[in-house]
Amino acid sequence: MPYGLRMKRFAWALLLAVPAPLPAQAPAEPPPIAVDLQVAALRDAALKDDYAWDITEGLTTEIGQRLAGTEAEARARTWAVAKLRAMGFSNVRIEEFPVRTAIRGTESAEILAPFPQHLVVNALGNSASTGPAGVTGEVVAFDNVDALRLAPESAIRGKIVFVDHRMTATQDGIGYGQFGAPRRQGPTIASQKGAIAIVIRSIGTDHNRTPHTGVMSFDNGARPIPAGALSVPDAEQLMRIVKRGKPVTMRLRLESQPIDGTSGNVIAEVPGRDPSLPPVLVSGHLDSWDLGTGAIDDAAGVAIAAAAAKRIMDAGRPLRTIRVVWFGSEELGLFGGLDYRARYGKLPHHALIESDFGADRIYKVDSKLGAARREEARMIGAALAPLGIVTGSFEKADGSDIGPMLADGQPGIGLNQDGTRYFDLHHTSNDTLDKVDIEQLRQNVAAWTATLAILSGGIEPGPKPSRAKQR
Ligand SMILES: [Zn+2]
Repeated sequence: MPYGLRMKRFAWALLLAVPAPLPAQAPAEPPPIAVDLQVAALRDAALKDDYAWDITEGLTTEIGQRLAGTEAEARARTWAVAKLRAMGFSNVRIEEFPVRTAIRGTESAEILAPFPQHLVVNALGNSASTGPAGVTGEVVAFDNVDALRLAPESAIRGKIVFVDHRMTATQDGIGYGQFGAPRRQGPTIASQKGAIAIVIRSIGTDHNRTPHTGVMSFDNGARPIPAGALSVPDAEQLMRIVKRGKPVTMRLRLESQPIDGTSGNVIAEVPGRDPSLPPVLVSGHLDSWDLGTGAIDDAAGVAIAAAAAKRIMDAGRPLRTIRVVWFGSEELGLFGGLDYRARYGKLPHHALIESDFGADRIYKVDSKLGAARREEARMIGAALAPLGIVTGSFEKADGSDIGPMLADGQPGIGLNQDGTRYFDLHHTSNDTLDKVDIEQLRQNVAAWTATLAILSGGIEPGPKPSRAKQR
């Protein structure tokens, strides 16, 4: 018998012989919670929801890619206003703000020596343009951003930097922060050390020849240089070539045309019975990258938020106003969230929620409603448990556009989706409608509907249309 096990048996014997007295102040078990019948019925009915699929399918089909600041994003706003009005929402409006973006041009990466061949590349957001001639230089490769940071300028000046990483898939997507460093910090460091361009291994977890774009910025006065993402198989190919030990020459062409454009948030409401109460904000972002059709990022998100609000509206009038916000220009730097915050961030909100992590099933609910609202948070946990959703933290909530307002102290809920395959598709040409699983999408809507039914403070049957109203 292993020593550890023997000791355990010994300990058990002691415990049996001498029952330990309970500590004087044992933490009380929280009382059981009964889920409101109306909440449960709304939740279960939402498992047959078609509103979210209808929005996701419509937006990705009739608009497709909708890069912030472009004419396509403007068409998406017009589409959104018509859709939300047709669904019966009130106070449907667009709130515009200016953004600077860039139109993608011709893009290519070519190894000229020692083994001539083409690689698949896409420019990152805010990349400088190479112009039609492209740039040609020797490749200097790094395993990660720290290795780039430690390298002497003399090793980098005049060269094309390549930065690798080892991001792998996780349920909560935790790797995106750390392993996203080649994209977020690599271009600035490479530029400051005199590189003529940078290519990174795509910040993704797939092995398809679909590069992952994404925004980055040149900080601390760094001069913009061309910056691209190789697909993961192409990045691995480049690393194998580099490891052969011969000088590697690459010609990189990343053409882009900067434009000053207009973006905007689309806002719609389900008016509450008591307009003096702070609203519940449900959201996603309307813009997408320009490679796929932005199905999982984030047509599904705006669809989930609006579908849940619509289901409450269909059931009657909530106590609190539900405000649906489809943010613009999330991908370029959370500009929609910042514009909303500038206009309304000082006003209290009952809760903020955002869906921006695909459309796969929700597995955990976090909340940050404050100690005084613990019962409400527990109620949400109990209502979601039948959907297989575990109650996580009572001290945190996150979201992309709503992040700054949550950091300001606004209360929020985090309905966490399974992100295991999210970074296979994120910001690629492969982010298309066929990746959305309707059964999982419905589970999302069911969770959001139940959450919203609780947060909005109880739904009463809508007023019957009166003669006065009909006139
Ligand atoms: Zn997104």
